[in-house]
Order: sequence, then structure tokens, then C-alpha cells
Amino acid sequence: MSKSYQCQVCGLTKNRSEVIPAAVIRPAIFSLIKQTHSDLNDVGYICLADLNIFRHKYIQQMMEEEKGELTELENTVVQSLKDHEILTRNVDAEFEGKLKLGDRLADKIASYGGSWKFIITFATILTIWIILNSVVLLLRPFDPFPFILLNLVLSCLAAIQAPVIMMSQNRQEAKDRIRSEHDYQINLKAELEIRNLHQKIDHLLTHQWERLVQIQQVQLEMMEELKARK
Ligand SMILES: [Zn+2]
Repeated sequence: MSKSYQCQVCGLTKNRSEVIPAAVIRPAIFSLIKQTHSDLNDVGYICLADLNIFRHKYIQQMMEEEKGELTELENTVVQSLKDHEILTRNVDAEFEGKLKLGDRLADKIASYGGSWKFIITFATILTIWIILNSVVLLLRPFDPFPFILLNLVLSCLAAIQAPVIMMSQNRQEAKDRIRSEHDYQINLKAELEIRNLHQKIDHLLTHQWERLVQIQQVQLEMMEELKARK
């Protein structure tokens, strides 16, 4: 007559082929059984039927934990999206919108003053002025040689043009500064997003992977048992 073994969970007496020593149970499952059956020790035995129930419980628990962690992760992502709204914006349009009439006029004058169109027009006017005063109106020139009135006009023009160009340049600089600040913000945000992604991937690699392997090991054990029982 074969020796009989008592199961520590259900208390029934079973054959050797129906029980497994408590010492060989995976530590994680062992502690799970211990939660409901505190008298469990590792010298006794436990029947396969009970062990399988606890294995299912263990896997289920792990999946639930997984789900909880995933929803938490999702929440943080949603929260961060809410907190850091999209930074990309059109700096140029924003800047143009703030300009006053005087600023806009200065920009136009500066851009016209720096064009070939202006130089050609101006050279033409100068030539006409000189020809008028030296050839056509020889008898009664309104600005005889050496064209003092023309000199005065040119001086006034230069005096006005310089500050206008400076004004336009200052504004260009301000615009560049805003643009570079915006670029910096975008870069920073991208960096943070990448760090966030890194964390997510790390989470996948460590937690989830580890859990999958554990579940697989439990399955492997069950398969081995099935094979041994044949
Ligand atoms: Zn049992």
C-alpha cells in the first residue's frame, strides 16, 4: 500500500501522483497561498488541483496589476498633454500683428531704400536736376552750379533715412530674439517628450517583460506536470 499525503490547503488525503511538495512551488505562488492558508509550510504537500487554482489566481492578479499600471501611465501622458499644450506657433504672424503704423512704415521705407529701384530712381532724379539747372534753365536756374539746394535736400534725406533704417534693424533683432526663444522652447519640449518616451520603453522592457516571463514560467511548469502525468 502506498503512503498517503495530506494536502495542506483542502486537508484531503491524496496519492503521491496527485500532490506536489510545497518546497518546489514558485515563491510568488507560495506567498499567495500563504495569504489565505497561513499554516502552509515547505515540508508539507499540496494537491495539484489546489495548486492550479492558485496559479490561475496568481496570473489573474498579475494581469490586473498590469492593467492598473497601464491606465496610470496613460493618465500621466494625458495629464502632461493637458499641462503642456502645444508650443508650436507662428512667431512671425504674432510679431506682425503687434506692429504699429509707424513701425510698418519704417520697415517699408528701409526695404525700399535698400533696393536697386531706389538707387536708379534717385540717380535719375539727380541727373534731371543737374541737367535742368545747367543746360535747360541756363538763363534763370533755380539752383545754379554748385547745386547748393540739391546738397541740402540730399543731406536732409540722409539724416532721415539713417534713423529709419536703425528702427527697422532694431525690430528685426527683436523678431530674431523671439524666434530663437521659441526655438529653444520647442527643443526643450521635444527633449522632454523623448525622455517621456524613454521612460515608457523602459517600463515596457522591465515591468511588462518580467511579468510575461513569469506567466510563461508558470505555464511551462503546468505543461511539465501534464507531461509527467502521462
Ligand atoms: Zn488540496
